Amino acid sequence: MTAIRQEDLIESVADALQYISYFHPRDYIDSLALAYQREESPAARDAIAQILTNSRMSAEGHRPVCQDTGIVVAFVRVGMNVRWEGATMSVTDMVNAGVRRAYLHPDNKLRASILSDPAGTRTNTKDNTPAVIHFDLIPGDTVEVDVAAKGGGSENKSKFTMLNPSDSIVDWIVDVVPTMGAGWCPPGMLGIGIGGSAEKAMVLAKEALMEPIDMAELKRRGPSNRLEELRIEIHDKINALGIGAQGLGGLTTVLDVKIKDYPTHAASLPVAVIPNCAATRHVHFVLDGSGPAQLEAPKLEDYPDVHWTASPKARRVDLASVTREDVVNWRPGDTLLLNGKLLTGRDAAHKRIRDLIDSGKPLPEGVDFSGRFIYYVGPVDPVRDEVVGPAGPTTATRMDKFTEMMLARTGLLGMIGKAERGPVAIEAIRKHKAVYLMAVGGAAYLVSKAIKASRVVAFEDLGMEAIYEFEVEDMPVTVAVDSKGVSVHETGPAQWRGKIGTIPVVVA
Ligand code: SF4
Repeated sequence: MTAIRQEDLIESVADALQYISYFHPRDYIDSLALAYQREESPAARDAIAQILTNSRMSAEGHRPVCQDTGIVVAFVRVGMNVRWEGATMSVTDMVNAGVRRAYLHPDNKLRASILSDPAGTRTNTKDNTPAVIHFDLIPGDTVEVDVAAKGGGSENKSKFTMLNPSDSIVDWIVDVVPTMGAGWCPPGMLGIGIGGSAEKAMVLAKEALMEPIDMAELKRRGPSNRLEELRIEIHDKINALGIGAQGLGGLTTVLDVKIKDYPTHAASLPVAVIPNCAATRHVHFVLDGSGPAQLEAPKLEDYPDVHWTASPKARRVDLASVTREDVVNWRPGDTLLLNGKLLTGRDAAHKRIRDLIDSGKPLPEGVDFSGRFIYYVGPVDPVRDEVVGPAGPTTATRMDKFTEMMLARTGLLGMIGKAERGPVAIEAIRKHKAVYLMAVGGAAYLVSKAIKASRVVAFEDLGMEAIYEFEVEDMPVTVAVDSKGVSVHETGPAQWRGKIGTIPVVVA
């Protein structure tokens, strides 16, 4: 019987979460590097270059690849011959102690994103606990753990359906993926769960995401069963949609499709899809009683030789002097380098702004959006000499319902976020001759290097959701919705969907 120490599990979970905050899995890097080589869409290629460059920078700096450092999900498989030596906590509490230790680590503090009372006060727990933990009891004398930190943007796009047994799984998935938009920060992977009951299918989909990317290897050796055939068919049909990196249109939307299945009822065909984003973060470790898990750091030479720099065609914009007349000349796909001061704000700040305006009260001192841009972001706290921690964009679609109010009532000129805007926001942008710019989701550490000063100007109690003023230098963005309401997230995929039929899609 193996004795496992409580402290070994806590330390291993903490180490694993620190590790995955700044090291992408090697299989993700290799697969994304391959996608970069074969990408023919300039916008998608630029976005992938930013993600790869960001990944290397994070590995070097031991800082998170993304500002959303995720909700912790753990699959814990406890051997039935294991004895917990001197344990005073439940295994759930041990995992949560590891989460707490990781997220409050002084050298690499991670963003606390977990809110208790989700239907009510939505109060931040401040240490990113609790984790979502799935247990299994297995034969043997080890404890096996898969630990992941799942980004909210990709988790929000999860889908589930109960198909009729005679329905096509592939057709449903190919129909549903475009409805997910780009808020899940592709290129990434899809975890698919088929069978069981409703909740079992969802857990299978999440568990499938813990497996390494091996689509290139699968295609080389050929499928050996029905699930592998499905994986290839879904992978190829989704990539043929032309959605591309960040939804800009391109050849690679998914790097892999992983499927797990389980027997189900004769009347049922449950199917769950959970996407994993550019911040793919998971690691596996085993405790055998010899101490905490040892995770080997990747070597920098394992990273592809990709070093993003701004395109020479990118236009510098002075945020202090930019006018509506300038903005109406910007076109979808134009790349800009922003210089000057921005205000930030995301979900909770927008709600407060709306409440203040509706009740006829003034906005807090320093919050003047007239002629200015807002950046949808919730940054990681700085450490050491940083001005701000990783600070990439959050999904703009969630702010759609506030867009008319912000443009009509505050004098806002434009917004910066990630992913597409919905029809309501696009109509408001067109009506007010405003603009929506996008930064690359999953390139948060790279983006943060463009931020030269940061201060909280309002709603400090909201933590990462407070309104900050950032001073930026050459912050890279792309015009995603122009003042006429033309969206690059509609034109880009449509253009590449058409091209994919004609260009040779080389699949390794
Ligand atoms: S890469 Fe995108 S979806 Fe993933 S955690 Fe970051 S912002 Fe969220």
